[in-house]
Amino acid sequence: NRHARLPEHFFARVAPQSRLATRLADVSPDCARLLGLTELVEEDSPESLSAREQLRQVMAGEQLLAGMDALAQKYTGHQFGQYNPQLGDGRGLLLGELVVTRAGTDAPQEVTFDLHLKGAGRTPYSRFGDGQAVVRSSVREYLASEYMAALGIPTSRALALAVNGERVQRETVEPGATLMRVAESHLRFGHFEWLAHSGRYDDLKVLIDHALREHFPECLAEAVHSDAPLNDEVRVTAALGMFKIVIARTARLIAAWQSYGFVHAVMNTDNMSLLGMTFDYGPYAFLDGYEANLIPNHTDQAGRYGFAQQPGIGLWNLERLGVAFSPLIDVDALSEALGQYEGELQREYARLMRMRLGLPDTREEDMTLVQQWRDLLTEGRVDHTHAYRLLSHWQVTQSAPEALVLLLAGVRGPHGNAAEARDKAEAWLARYQERVMAAELSAQDERQRRLAMLGCNPLYVPRTHLLLDVIARVEQGDDSTLKAFRERLAMPFFRPEEGSVEAALAFGLAHGVEAEL
Ligand code: AMP
Ligand code: MG
Ligand code: MG
Repeated sequence: NRHARLPEHFFARVAPQSRLATRLADVSPDCARLLGLTELVEEDSPESLSAREQLRQVMAGEQLLAGMDALAQKYTGHQFGQYNPQLGDGRGLLLGELVVTRAGTDAPQEVTFDLHLKGAGRTPYSRFGDGQAVVRSSVREYLASEYMAALGIPTSRALALAVNGERVQRETVEPGATLMRVAESHLRFGHFEWLAHSGRYDDLKVLIDHALREHFPECLAEAVHSDAPLNDEVRVTAALGMFKIVIARTARLIAAWQSYGFVHAVMNTDNMSLLGMTFDYGPYAFLDGYEANLIPNHTDQAGRYGFAQQPGIGLWNLERLGVAFSPLIDVDALSEALGQYEGELQREYARLMRMRLGLPDTREEDMTLVQQWRDLLTEGRVDHTHAYRLLSHWQVTQSAPEALVLLLAGVRGPHGNAAEARDKAEAWLARYQERVMAAELSAQDERQRRLAMLGCNPLYVPRTHLLLDVIARVEQGDDSTLKAFRERLAMPFFRPEEGSVEAALAFGLAHGVEAEL
């Protein structure tokens, strides 16, 4: 636990609170494999039973494993635009890090993953909170993080979900849970804001050195093996390099959210990962019927964290990180680095939209086509996931499938004109068809194009109303739906019985389009 080697006031050692009657509701095999914990994957072998029992005990707060050193990290942050100095891990504990050896291009590489137990009890930073997590929010985080990973979007992971016998007071009384969150780092923008805003500039140097050594070694000219402070000049150059990487990763992350229709809904700077991954899942939502500015968080009355606001908020948050670095780094250099954000986001967004729409090459007018596509989805409140999936099945040398035309013509509300909506949908599809056919693909390449689309446009998405059903069942003690959901979301591009995107394509061809989505 390298965070435990930082100065004592950077954290508080806290033992997890033991929880009554804890059961391991589900383990993510993908996350277990990522960690090299294959014994958790094989079901029902004696090794697997004992590994699962150990994990259950840790998640119940009954024991820590050898080498674990549980602590709550101190950080602060801007919440809904206001600085809050009182934050820190209020209910989650960093238990330690797991060193995993991965096959590298030349030599094996060591990667470390934080194990963080969410719902582990009160800490000195809990303020008025009870230190608990409930089944509802834990199931939502568990499924969403494993789904985002399956889509290839950077995210914290979830190894397992445990349900306990606690009765937790929220709007109603809800059953308690703990989640084992996994990430290469739990460093947030707020860690740096804490030190800068409280004037602890020497500590700020210590944390920057730590972040550079552990997570951004590429910013240091040569590997630094000692724990001694970096030379001041070396630090300034390296920290600016790190800031540029954080900016680029954050820009690309938000481009991915915008293209896949993910609304984080609580983009406070304490929820922004220094590594640029989706972090701290709360009242998030994936778009259903396309809404240009969905605001899933009911307490967000100003709509600060609506879907359309995310690119701008990403930059605002990066500016807060820049302010935190400003005691050490030249402000003009920080501002110049921030100037790269918008371009990076637009480039990545264009790349992802070309990928999702299956545009075989790059043309100047593509972003107009993308804008018109978004307008069409917005006007008809067209189901976002379904629209890409049906488009992926269209063999463009033929006329557009009727199901696709109908979907895009959408439900136009009480004043809508069905004929006009149909005309608009057909007009866009004709432009799209012309655009794709201009690339003059062979039949084989056209098939590959559709396969690639099916491989990036998911068939499944964790819809809020379906999550409610999973949550209700887990609350009643039935984990089978949770497991089934997790399996589907971990392979979101084809049905389990199909087994591959090739089979999904064959199914689509046989049925005209996919029958039910
Ligand atoms: P969030 O809105 O999830 O980012 O949480 C903001 C802050 O409140 C963080 O410092 C959390 O650790 C803390 N917090 C959230 N829920 C609880 C809780 N039930 N008990 C104690 N602290 C909490
Ligand atoms: Mg948080
Ligand atoms: Mg949270």
